[in-house]
Amino acid sequence: MPKNYLPSSVKRNEGEEEDAVLFAFQKFKSKFMPKVAIIGGSGVYDSGIFKKEKEVRIKTPFGYPSSPIEIGDFLGPEGDASRPYGASQKIAFLARHGKNHQFPPHKVPQKANLWALKKLGVERIIGICAVGSLKKSFKPGDIVICDQFIDFTKKREYTFYDGSTSSPLSSKAIHISLADPFCPELRKLFFKEAKKLKIPVHQKGTYLCIEGPRFSTRAESKFFRNFADIIGMTLIPEAVLARELEICYLSLAMVTDYDVWQDSPVSAEEVIKTMKDNLEKIKKLLKNTIPQIKIQRNCPCKTALKNAKI
Ligand SMILES: [Zn+2]
Repeated sequence: MPKNYLPSSVKRNEGEEEDAVLFAFQKFKSKFMPKVAIIGGSGVYDSGIFKKEKEVRIKTPFGYPSSPIEIGDFLGPEGDASRPYGASQKIAFLARHGKNHQFPPHKVPQKANLWALKKLGVERIIGICAVGSLKKSFKPGDIVICDQFIDFTKKREYTFYDGSTSSPLSSKAIHISLADPFCPELRKLFFKEAKKLKIPVHQKGTYLCIEGPRFSTRAESKFFRNFADIIGMTLIPEAVLARELEICYLSLAMVTDYDVWQDSPVSAEEVIKTMKDNLEKIKKLLKNTIPQIKIQRNCPCKTALKNAKI
């Protein structure tokens, strides 16, 4: 078993390794483990870009993830095997809200989700989500490659390093840097490809994450407009926990509505409809871009813990 599939501070408890890890190592061996995972948000309950080969339910020290994780062969354009992440590469998919959308944003088992993906050997996560727009120039149907976030959530589990001795990671506190919270390599690549495909895309955008599950009041929405471009409920702590596990994280946010700073109130129905209408853009972007991700990571994400310990 590769020694470095979890950060060095992880305590490896005998018997903790569950079927997923055994599946990944025994059936596929390490080179066939999924290195890229997609986390699908509202309206995205399957990736639609790969042939499902296996579904694994993984028990983690934080309970079960929000859905079984699908693993399969990635169907790159024309199955170009010469590309590093071509047709033969494994990819994983996890439905953030569960297959039946049973987990509201504040109840998504984020720690279990991230831990399970790390256990499978995932090094890069592409998080897809629906967001409201706080600015006129961010139109419904646009894709935002977020570069910053502001956290307005209130009571979530924000860290694997919670200082408790029962934590599977070191009981010492760490202070991870999130000055640039998203993987620079993935952001650059996805923007370039979206442009090439003529998909309406924003190279940057500040995502403001609220607790939910309710939408904002008009006053809140107007207040948030001063600081951010888009608003959603799921990015936190997903992006933070990925960084703690030294996984590259990219947020691909689909604008589904103008938040209530505009005259009409947001409806959940409208959000889902716009998401479904625009899903093809996301699939096209994933299909064309994932095969171009280089296996070697040259970004700071992979050593995020290096200077985080006191
Ligand atoms: Zn990275």
